[in-house]
Amino acid sequence: MQDIKKVLVCGSGGFIGGHLTKRLKEEGYWVRGIDIKANEYNNDHSDEFIIGDLRDIEQCNVALKDMDWVFQLAADMGGAGYLFSGENDAEVMHNSSLINLNILNASIKHKIDRVFYSSSACVYPEFNQEDPENPNCKENSVYPAQPDSEYGWEKLFSERLFLSFERNFNLKVRIARFHNIFGPMGTWQGGKEKAPAAICRKVAKAVDGSSIDIWGDGLQTRSFLYVDECIEGIMRLTKSDYSSPVNIGSDELISINDFAKLIINQSGKNLSLNHIEGPLGVRGRVSDNELIFEKLGWKPSKPLKDGISHTFRWINKQMRITNVHQH
Ligand code: NAD
Repeated sequence: MQDIKKVLVCGSGGFIGGHLTKRLKEEGYWVRGIDIKANEYNNDHSDEFIIGDLRDIEQCNVALKDMDWVFQLAADMGGAGYLFSGENDAEVMHNSSLINLNILNASIKHKIDRVFYSSSACVYPEFNQEDPENPNCKENSVYPAQPDSEYGWEKLFSERLFLSFERNFNLKVRIARFHNIFGPMGTWQGGKEKAPAAICRKVAKAVDGSSIDIWGDGLQTRSFLYVDECIEGIMRLTKSDYSSPVNIGSDELISINDFAKLIINQSGKNLSLNHIEGPLGVRGRVSDNELIFEKLGWKPSKPLKDGISHTFRWINKQMRITNVHQH
């Protein structure tokens, strides 16, 4: 393989982007990061970091200049409370599409060799995810399309956009559909946090003998992937020759109730679950890892509880540092 030196991480101020810059530096790449905000936890390890808005084509052109590869992780993003309430649909679709359109435009202009794009399990049709015990998230089940959120529709549109640029402009694209990535140095409060961080925070805050709120009946299922394995998957996929979308997720299915109990066990507290109404998403979702294993000879394999232990300890520490006392 050609010796690639210069890479751009779009969204390096964010959770996965920050972890990715660290790995890229460890592998000897020269890394430029760009984000609309700095990384809150100082987890951006790029050689050069630009504060910039990727909705602006000029900022994109500055960021992509002289790069060999681009990792596109920037998106208007949040957990269920942000993405599934319906209140942010227009912003999410407009902002993320514009970022992807601009990045592809600039990729052609600056003769980028390959682009990694972070899609999502939210592209899969709602009708295949109604049985919590048996959801179907095989890559080829994505059509006929019926994502359950506008966030999912935007990701599906952008997958097609990246693939069309590959066909028409000979740009190499690598597309991963992430399934619930979690770990330290991610958003854990403020409304954009996802379920693992939100539950860790609630458990860390709860007084022994009390209860924590869980959205819905808790029987909905998901799988959760620790960020280190996500980064491993991104690196392997980007270096590979495989250009169709592929899942990067865990195949360890767990109900939200059992997931909450796993986190409660980490805390050593005695807490019960209080089910309340909230935005939920589909009834069941789990990564199908047959294709990634077939194409890359690798799939995520670490047990969920190991990642939860690191994450719970990190959020617990953040709460002590910032002395947060509200839900
Ligand atoms: P994140 O919100 O921490 O990171 C996204 C980053 O994009 C943020 O730092 C944000 O400031 C930046 N950004 C947003 N708008 C921008 C703009 N106009 N210009 C420049 N930067 C901008 O989210 P994350 O969890 O690290 O997710 C990274 C990518 O992976 C996203 O595309 C997301 O949709 C996708 N994804 C994540 C998960 C997950 O479980 N975390 C699951 C599926 C897909």
